[in-house]
Amino acid sequence: MAETGVTDCGMSEDRMSKDRMSKDRMSEKWTAGKGIAGEGMTGEGIVKEGMAGEVIAGKAFIGADIGGTNTVIGLFDERGLPLGERRLATMRADPRHPTSDPAEFIERLGQEIQALALAHGYRDIAAAGFGVPGWVDTASGMALDASNMGWKNVRFAEAMSRRLGAPVYIDNDVRLYTLGEAAAGAGQGCADLVCITVGTGLSAGIMTNGFLVRGSRLLAGEIGHDRVDGLDAPCNCGKRGCLETIASAPGIARLAAEAVRSGKSTVLAGTERPITALDVFLACQAGDAVAADIFRFAGRALGRKLAALAFAVDPQRIIVGGGVAAAGDYLLQPIRDELAVHIPEAEWRPAVVSGKLRDKAGLVGAVRLAIENWTGERGGIHDE
Ligand SMILES: [Zn+2]
Repeated sequence: MAETGVTDCGMSEDRMSKDRMSKDRMSEKWTAGKGIAGEGMTGEGIVKEGMAGEVIAGKAFIGADIGGTNTVIGLFDERGLPLGERRLATMRADPRHPTSDPAEFIERLGQEIQALALAHGYRDIAAAGFGVPGWVDTASGMALDASNMGWKNVRFAEAMSRRLGAPVYIDNDVRLYTLGEAAAGAGQGCADLVCITVGTGLSAGIMTNGFLVRGSRLLAGEIGHDRVDGLDAPCNCGKRGCLETIASAPGIARLAAEAVRSGKSTVLAGTERPITALDVFLACQAGDAVAADIFRFAGRALGRKLAALAFAVDPQRIIVGGGVAAAGDYLLQPIRDELAVHIPEAEWRPAVVSGKLRDKAGLVGAVRLAIENWTGERGGIHDE
């Protein structure tokens, strides 16, 4: 993984930190306010016990990406360099009690984090950042609605902070993906970025002038639920015809099943189980024109929304990540083609590229969130 402590984005890291601090303000609200930040820490910092038993001053940070299926936890040093990683299945709330508190999952996360830290000689961690899918309130540390996990109004950061005895910061997963790619991935050197993750769902992370855009209702970037003329499939959000109903893994799979049902000539017709987005990609590689058309249809619709977003925030680059981004140019080229229609002037048009850090982007973004907030609170990581 690339170094995350350094950025060549051409923007001031200091400014990025300060902005996030001023926007987040979560620290005062419940770390300093409740004294949690001091718990579990030994004096001026964390003490690391070396292999030979000597005690080394050093700080460990956690960056974690909570996905609908799996959660990945990374241990990092204070420069943001990775030390180790653990992966566990995400525990969902009991479907019979969709608003139940995910206390059990937080306890398990706490155990895994402590085991990971201990395995690398750290008794405690300094701070942790978590990417949570769905609607997240960074200031209160609450997961307002993480529907694919059945979480509603869960005080995640507060509970996790109590469990770890360290400050905990959270943000929406695609925003932390954006932060990660900006810091160490395909967005290095850019202060103005749009990142989209196309997977189970579709959403965008927007960075302008080095600042993550969250919006007045913390809903900035939810482009997956913008409706598209001519579409009518039901969406998970309860509406019909959302962009996500075609520009997502389930959307691609559904379009393929429809193509087969309508009798189109495609190798996908021979699939004996439910068709997946991966099947459609493999069919593209085998030269299947119908499969390529499916990506073109979804990519062009996505490109139209991205063109509107490009006019609004004028990003240097549009970074495409998430599972469906593995389709590469089958998805990216239609997006570029559509952007070229709406923004014919090449010099005004953002480049459309694949994410570089893949499933690590969220971890890198999460640990940056932790380190930057922690550093901001302490007035600098090195001035002890
Ligand atoms: Zn929707």
